[in-house]
Amino acid sequence: MKKLKYTFFTVLLLVGATSFAQEEPAQEEKQSGHVNTNKFRQLYNEFATPNQYRTASGAPGPAYYQNEADYEIKIELNDENQTISGYETITYINNSPDKLEYLWVQLDQNIRTKDSPAREKDGSGMAPVIQPGSVVSSYMTEPFDGGFNIIEVSKDGQDLPHMINFTMMRVEMPEALEPGDEFEFSIRWNYNIPEHTVDRARSGYESFPDGNKNYVIAQFFPRMCVYNDVEGWQNYQFWGNGEFALPFGDYDVEITVPADHLLDGTGNLVNRKDVYSKEEMNRWEQAQKSYDKPVIIRTQAEAEQIEKGRSTEKKTWKLQAENVRDFAFTTSRKYIMDAQAVKFPKGDVMAISIYPKEGNPLWEEYSTKAVVQTLESYSRMTFDYPYPKAISVHGKNQGMEYPMICWNYGRPNEDGTYSDRTKFGMISVIIHEVGHNFFPMIVNSDERQWGWMDEGINTFVQYVAEQDFGENYPEAIAPNSKYPSRRGEPSKITDYMGGNQDFISPIMSNPENVYQLGNNAYGKPATALNILRETVMGRDLFDYSFKTYAQRWMFKHPTPEDFFRTMEDASAVDLDWYWRGWFYTTESVDIGVSEVKSYYLTNNPTTAGKEMLTRYGVDPSAVDAVYVVEEDGEDYDPAMKGKSIVENAPNLQEFMMDNFTPAERAKLKSPKHFYAVKFNKPGGIPMPIIVEYSYADGTKEKVTYPVQVWRKNDAEVTKVLATDKELVGVMLDPDLETADVDVSNNSWPKAEEESEFDSFKEGTQD
Ligand SMILES: [Zn+2]
Repeated sequence: MKKLKYTFFTVLLLVGATSFAQEEPAQEEKQSGHVNTNKFRQLYNEFATPNQYRTASGAPGPAYYQNEADYEIKIELNDENQTISGYETITYINNSPDKLEYLWVQLDQNIRTKDSPAREKDGSGMAPVIQPGSVVSSYMTEPFDGGFNIIEVSKDGQDLPHMINFTMMRVEMPEALEPGDEFEFSIRWNYNIPEHTVDRARSGYESFPDGNKNYVIAQFFPRMCVYNDVEGWQNYQFWGNGEFALPFGDYDVEITVPADHLLDGTGNLVNRKDVYSKEEMNRWEQAQKSYDKPVIIRTQAEAEQIEKGRSTEKKTWKLQAENVRDFAFTTSRKYIMDAQAVKFPKGDVMAISIYPKEGNPLWEEYSTKAVVQTLESYSRMTFDYPYPKAISVHGKNQGMEYPMICWNYGRPNEDGTYSDRTKFGMISVIIHEVGHNFFPMIVNSDERQWGWMDEGINTFVQYVAEQDFGENYPEAIAPNSKYPSRRGEPSKITDYMGGNQDFISPIMSNPENVYQLGNNAYGKPATALNILRETVMGRDLFDYSFKTYAQRWMFKHPTPEDFFRTMEDASAVDLDWYWRGWFYTTESVDIGVSEVKSYYLTNNPTTAGKEMLTRYGVDPSAVDAVYVVEEDGEDYDPAMKGKSIVENAPNLQEFMMDNFTPAERAKLKSPKHFYAVKFNKPGGIPMPIIVEYSYADGTKEKVTYPVQVWRKNDAEVTKVLATDKELVGVMLDPDLETADVDVSNNSWPKAEEESEFDSFKEGTQD
């Protein structure tokens, strides 16, 4: 008797498997087609082949190398006519296995020459209405005369042949640079500093009504290009959107400015005693021991006094930095400065803020707090901040990052009042720009080619740091709320991802070629990483892998594949489907519940059940089957609904008695209800199905079906729910954690349409 029953179940399993295949012939055909469109296939075609430089695990390989550029720079900033003139000596070290026939040097200021093609890179048109300022700047004004004047390119006093192509300069050496050799050469130059508040430049000056100017200066010297195993020379032109690709090196910089200026920049200030007053020197020493709050180094009252004068004397500030990929500085006689020490295992770091009185009271209150929070949160997520300082400078409408220094917006009204929008905008931009020290200043990705590798990854960690800030300074945010992060929450990216596909580009695009750079390179990748952390991988696996990536590529040059591979390598989570959906396509997430059917089981033979057995050559009267009855369908008997399986199917009870011990039987469930819940997926990106089942007794149960449920059928999938309780509701993604772009199909029974009044109310919210 026992044997017969086992035989029957074997038949049933076979029948089940066959019937499943028969029900989905379309899928069978798809699998045998010529083009594999399966969303779970590995990314072999998209990824570069691993090699000796970059391994398949995502780590630097045994032959990994990077070239180095060391700089000795002397410049003078002329505050009278807003020019910079300089002389630099570059030592370029060829660690590559390749012989280099020439060198490429970046001349970023050339984007602002009068005839720069960057001015004409976009199409335009005539709008029906234009602001007077735009008419003047677009059609009535001569373009600003920016761009480098390269006066000399030489070695040991001998001119070197060089050729300038827009923002790139090719320098020829007397002979090719052999692997392992270095080449030292010098450049003399000058340029007109742009007014960044007018020209929307990443650096320049802001002019105040009394004639004073605050300078935030970067891209101010000819900089070496990166040469590596991926791009050769990365000499893709600077068109304005794609930022920078730069080699690491040591910097020795001397900057001469009016004697009444306060200046700071990348690196250690090595002649502080020569440029600080005695009082400032004392306060600086106090700040180095102040771990709980900033110490004001130059007060607002002092700055207000100093800015009234115009010194004709000069002072030279000397800064030295090791292992940085760039150098920037700020200078003005208007500046107030405060600083605080932050403890790290390998030594203290100084968190510094520099701002004019126009930034107060906001800047004195929040800037250094935000710098400290950034250093702590980012270090926890990656590695201990390795540089001696991090400076936040207030520049109007600025948000730009360099090693150890960045410029940030956030200016109160003239009477000192400010909105929450200004306050949180300022704290967020400081966290973001200081955070860039980690990505891309230390984890030195190629910004020119991949905007998301610094902006997206940085915006993701920014979200983490902002939430930390909200927890550490609850008095700074609304009561009982979280820090109002602008980007990172899944619900904030759905409008973009669900929007017009003609104006969306995949994340894996060059920043010059994308629509909506903010969503493309910042918002979407940050959200993708947040969802990966919270929903797909979980914090433990994600954080370990993310830290592995940061530590593997600290002070090196990673590519996207190095990131993608490391995240899988350190976690054992296959993520090809995730990278494909989120980073290589413009598809969106939309999963719905399309149907719920209710069943009970019985051993009373049903018409459909008997037919199925007969079709497969099994005599229904010879087997002892369990039949499935759909509610309100053929053979439905309301009296049997809601009874336990063993009540409805005594043969199941008998089977249990014959095949299980009493202890095993005690552990078996006896569900009363069976539901087939059908999920569909109008969105292209596969995601785990997160579903909350609600039952008649008022209880709820959250179930997550792994993303793999979509691997054989990308359109719809049915899951059977066997339960003691009566199902009354199904809600998909109840906590809005997957960036589902259309939630109108997320519930069963379908949620009632919101009233016209409700939608009117929502429409008027900011
Ligand atoms: Zn950024």
